[in-house]
Amino acid sequence: PLQLQQGHNLPLPPQLYGAQRRNSAGLDLAEAETRDTLGDALTTLPVVVVQMDEAGKVEPAMQRARAAFPAWAARPVDERAAMLQAAAERLELGLPRFAALLVQEARKCWPDAIAEVRETIDFLRYYANEALRLQAPQAMPGPTGERNTLQLRARGVWVAISPWNFPLAIFTGQIAAALVTGNCVVAKPAEQTPRVATEMLSLLHAAGVPTSVLQMLHGTGETVGAALVAHPGVDGVVFTGSTSVAKGIQRALAARDGPIVPLIAETGGINAMLVDASALPEQVADAVLQSAFRSAGQRCSALRLLCLHEGIAARVLELVVGAASELRAGDPADFATDVGPLIDSEAFINVKRHIGRLRERGRVLLAPSVPAQPHHLVAAHVFEISNVADATHEIFGPVLQVVRWKGDPAAVIDAINALGYGLTLGIHTRIDRRAAALAARSRAGNVYVNRNMIGAVVGVQPFGGEALSGTGPKAGGPHYLLRFCSEQVVTINTAAAGG
Ligand code: NAD
Repeated sequence: PLQLQQGHNLPLPPQLYGAQRRNSAGLDLAEAETRDTLGDALTTLPVVVVQMDEAGKVEPAMQRARAAFPAWAARPVDERAAMLQAAAERLELGLPRFAALLVQEARKCWPDAIAEVRETIDFLRYYANEALRLQAPQAMPGPTGERNTLQLRARGVWVAISPWNFPLAIFTGQIAAALVTGNCVVAKPAEQTPRVATEMLSLLHAAGVPTSVLQMLHGTGETVGAALVAHPGVDGVVFTGSTSVAKGIQRALAARDGPIVPLIAETGGINAMLVDASALPEQVADAVLQSAFRSAGQRCSALRLLCLHEGIAARVLELVVGAASELRAGDPADFATDVGPLIDSEAFINVKRHIGRLRERGRVLLAPSVPAQPHHLVAAHVFEISNVADATHEIFGPVLQVVRWKGDPAAVIDAINALGYGLTLGIHTRIDRRAAALAARSRAGNVYVNRNMIGAVVGVQPFGGEALSGTGPKAGGPHYLLRFCSEQVVTINTAAAGG
């Protein structure tokens, strides 16, 4: 079946040209910066047609990738790194267009869309530089009469499976890491965002990556994704998405014929923020608003569970609920929008189901209704629940759960750990030693102290989780590329060789 992507002209938000932000309680949308960035370049986005069921192409794509691998792996790393740098330059020039695609297809608000294009540029440059750093053979210390050298090598053909919520940055980051280390890639983008992926693929090809080295197949996870993972010619899978799909991929890899191969999985979380009685309520409220409701909560790092010491709970909740009730849910292309739409009707139904459950089992602190159509909108919601353990699901929307605690904060961290995930954690306290101790006790992969939980800055805040939240290594960090490589150690008996 063919999927016709909407090709309507994307109207420029009128607020881009001079109007003041209306909502003083809202999120910081950096409007002036956005206006400068977009300039006059945005006009129209034409209709494109994407073939959406390419399961029949898995076998030829894998054969083509395997055939291309030896020559690609043999190319000097600086040539491959230069291609990523060239892609970064092209993307910089195309920033307004890609941002518009993200608003249109991924339903992102403008500031989030622009930030995602910038993050993608950062991934390309960072992995290009990292590959150059890692390429040199490493001499290992050893006894006389022997020379040991460790060399990183490409593994072969990687399957890269990405989600819709960062359809440019995660899609490109996975591909760039695999390519620059000398691997071939068959990518399967999320079925909700084929167009962003298609344009980025063309950009990478135009920057010099051969079409046999980087291929892409569209389709659903159950068809194309599953067929790719089951293929015996796959040497590694890099996946970002839900925990249940990651576990399914791990099982499928174990069950297939072929070698034991690595899976890099970045998945979801039930992310908490612990606030003690020493914290500053205004600072906490601001961090909560940003962390829970930005991108309509459709970030893997988003705050889901706010754990408030009972001595500070009333004041923080007054601030949070007051400000959250003023957030505007609306069209993502409208600059006054704080909480954009959910990605599709399936996500909408799912989030509504969780809201219904929380209405029954929790205490409603904020549950406004907004017209759901035409955008699948859900306004910011806040519910109080009794225990940390009652936060049983990752709710991928603007829904915040709150619990009150007293006594030992370490026990709260233990309860959060017991949820099984380990992605992000926020801590608000003015007792420095406590922050360090609680961070050490937590299994979260990224801990944010006295600030919001938004942040995965390439090369600065490498990002990724533990346990049910993923395998590591952290994307955008110094160890990421290593997982795409195998290591070979050559030991030479220098005495026998005559020196
Ligand atoms: P998803 O798991 O439904 O889909 C992700 C990708 O997997 C899609 O391309 C999908 O087509 C594919 N897929 C689905 N079933 C498959 C199968 N059986 N075999 C192979 N591939 C299959 O996730 P989503 O709804 O696209 O994304 C949201 C989830 O991603 C959330 O749980 C979120 O927390 C997580 N996420 C995590 C990170 C991170 O860095 N840790 C980043 C972004 C999103």
